[in-house]
Amino acid sequence: MGYKYVVSYAPTSRARCKGCGKNIARGALRVSRDTGPIAQFNDHSIVNHFHLKHAFDTMQRALCSSKVVLKRQDLEGLAALKPQDRIKVGRQITTFSRTRRGRCSRHKSVRKSKIRKSKSKSKSKSKSTKRDH
Ligand SMILES: [Zn+2]
Repeated sequence: MGYKYVVSYAPTSRARCKGCGKNIARGALRVSRDTGPIAQFNDHSIVNHFHLKHAFDTMQRALCSSKVVLKRQDLEGLAALKPQDRIKVGRQITTFSRTRRGRCSRHKSVRKSKIRKSKSKSKSKSKSTKRDH
């Protein structure tokens, strides 16, 4: 997916965060995700807004195949922020890319179930072959 992420200050307090469903306060840091043209919507794009924190929460759960913000270049609008906010957002990106590393929840669960399968729970019922002396 060709997602585009833009960070900005919310111009109004009307937009709702897609992550938590609450309104984003005016002037708060807001991340907008633009899906880019979607075929089943006549090539219109869908824009969702998030609180800064909830944008990263949502990306943490995203599948490996979907685009997320792993470096500063992946997030537009950074340069327009106040210096202290730029640092704050930059830190979020660094923390996120460190924990994400291309993994998604689906892959994690696949890995877990594999481990469980290989570990057979049953105690060896059949008595181990007695050694004849
Ligand atoms: Zn939120």
